[in-house]
Amino acid sequence: MHIGCPKEIKPQEFRVGMTPSAVQEAVAHGHTVTIETNAGIGAGFTDEDYTAAGASIAAKAEDVFAAADMIVKVKEPQAVERKMLREGQLLFTYLHLAPDPEQTKDLLASGATCIAYETVTDDRGGLPLLAPMSEVAGRLAPQVGAYTLQKANGGRGVLLGGVPGVGPGKVLVIGGGVVGTHAAKIAAGMGADVTVLDRSLPRLRYLDDVFGGTFKTSYASAANTIELAREADLIIGAVLVPGAAAPKLIKRDQLKELKPGAVLVDVAIDQGGCFETSKATTHQDPIYEVDGVMHYCVANMPGAVARTSTIALGNATMPFMIALANKGWKKACADDKHLLNGLNVHAGQLTYAAVGEALGIET
Ligand code: NAD
Repeated sequence: MHIGCPKEIKPQEFRVGMTPSAVQEAVAHGHTVTIETNAGIGAGFTDEDYTAAGASIAAKAEDVFAAADMIVKVKEPQAVERKMLREGQLLFTYLHLAPDPEQTKDLLASGATCIAYETVTDDRGGLPLLAPMSEVAGRLAPQVGAYTLQKANGGRGVLLGGVPGVGPGKVLVIGGGVVGTHAAKIAAGMGADVTVLDRSLPRLRYLDDVFGGTFKTSYASAANTIELAREADLIIGAVLVPGAAAPKLIKRDQLKELKPGAVLVDVAIDQGGCFETSKATTHQDPIYEVDGVMHYCVANMPGAVARTSTIALGNATMPFMIALANKGWKKACADDKHLLNGLNVHAGQLTYAAVGEALGIET
């Protein structure tokens, strides 16, 4: 199969769909790979890295789309890219179609077969192509929170690890899933005093069994949440209610109960945010203040560490990409029900029920 990987064109997107190791793997399986020039530059991969791995370099995205049977990307195709897709072509990338009727209409019109990273599943009920980005965002959250806590950034001037003779900062992580667990591990590693809240008792049991000595757990009742929030220097929002907007767990009128200069890092902002005063921000202007409390609400946190994110995403997508290339999408999806769950659009037909329900389109 001929696999193509264009440079991402969504603003502030520095990741790339294929790493040189993914190229090497595809070439070793007998496939041909074309990469757009400078596609990997934001993630620290040069054209020479790709040619050494066996790819050819194309001067323009048009050449990649024209040559390839399968396009591998990171972000949903932008309008200009959607025009380049053709009937029978395979697209493997994040799509997030439910809130995006324009994109859905164009993908249906293209006649392409589109497999979305975010709906591919695994045997444990997880989302294996979303998990690496949650791991990145979770591990980044204490880092950006610690920076925001510095006085010059509006924070209360607390060093999370403390020093001999001065106690550590207090970190409250709300939601103990993938983001929350990784955030708690890193915050604890920085020497902070960490508590994780969750509404799932099985999850709290798991966290207590595995991390009992590293951080504390507590049940996420409203009373517990505000009581622990009052004491916290840094609060990380990491909840997810599948298919729903994030619940607002700290209301505006409760901000006055928090410590002045406390920091809220709302990782759940891509689902609307779990603090009432959260609004999405960008890497250029990530922090704002409400009632003396600093907010960091960047919706694409993994973009800040594009190299790590690209490699982490590539590790997760590679086996699926190779299966699609080796077998073709029909056989690959017939052999793997989890990959089949990723199928969102085929030959002008929407094939993913939840997206159809959200957009009022028959599936
Ligand atoms: P997850 O499903 O692994 O974990 C979510 C956890 O939240 C679960 O353990 C669940 O029991 C818990 N929860 C649900 N409601 C709760 C409540 N009211 N109080 C306390 N806990 C509650 O999800 P995840 O992968 O950890 O993702 C968390 C959020 O981070 C999602 O909204 C995801 O989209 C977002 N995310 C954002 C970025 C970013 O760049 N901003 C990157 C990756 C993920």
